Amino acid sequence: MAHTVKVKSVRHVTHNVLRIMLEKPEGLTYIPGQAVDISIHKEGWEKEIRTFTFTSLQDDDYVEVTIKTYPSHNGVTNQLLSLKSGDQITLYDVYGDIHYKGEGIFIAGGAGITPFIAILKKLESENKIGNNKLIFANRAKEDIIDEEKFRHLLGKNFINVLSGEKVAGYEHGFITAELIKSQTDGEGKYYYLCGPPPMMDAVEKELASLGVAEDHIVKEGF
Ligand SMILES: Cc1cc2nc3c(=O)[nH]c(=O)nc-3n(C[C@H](O)[C@H](O)[C@H](O)COP(=O)(O)OP(=O)(O)OC[C@H]3O[C@@H](n4cnc5c(N)ncnc54)[C@H](O)[C@@H]3O)c2cc1C
Repeated sequence: MAHTVKVKSVRHVTHNVLRIMLEKPEGLTYIPGQAVDISIHKEGWEKEIRTFTFTSLQDDDYVEVTIKTYPSHNGVTNQLLSLKSGDQITLYDVYGDIHYKGEGIFIAGGAGITPFIAILKKLESENKIGNNKLIFANRAKEDIIDEEKFRHLLGKNFINVLSGEKVAGYEHGFITAELIKSQTDGEGKYYYLCGPPPMMDAVEKELASLGVAEDHIVKEGF
């Protein structure tokens, strides 16, 4: 069922990532990790449907999405950059493969952090953060979404990997089997994986080399 709602607010959380708050429509249900198909009410763009993950929780009195924009490319996310409060958006189907199964390591690339924002928010609200860890891969420090929040929430269990620059205190390069292994303590952990397809392929190969069983990998490509 489609729901057309008004934009409540739009703000930048990094130089190219927007956090958009929307009115919460009646009857919309979702769980942390799920996404929704969206279109904007703007001439010529109504039929352009794109998928974005909820970074709000079901009980919040608003709906929130966190969106990486591609300003150099005339796509939907570029149009979102000129969105303002009062504009309208339509929400369609809710779906998604990522949901929380138990403690483990969240591995995100760029905007692939969004399902984990929702899952960790939910765990925080239930006081169940436990020993969950987050390995977050980005090109540069300025690209890290919600860095302060994750640092506060996870402390030493928040590991940043930067591929495009060397910064003291941050891992440099790509996510390797060695890095994942150094964060794995104990058997039976889950590995949650979300990011652009090339990053996902690379990390899946690293997980396979560590002998991680397929049924312990929870993933979605963006
Ligand atoms: C289940 C799911 C959940 C998702 N959740 C989120 C989310 O929460 N937040 C988020 O930011 N994204 C999310 N995505 C990804 C998001 O849907 C896409 O990034 C979005 O559709 C891009 O829309 P667009 O119209 O701007 O680009 P499109 O026109 O759809 O282009 C797609 C891709 O083209 C690439 N591109 C960039 N520049 C150019 C260019 N000059 N020419 C051609 N191609 C170019 C970009 O990498 C972009 O990803 C999700 C995807 C899936 C499948």
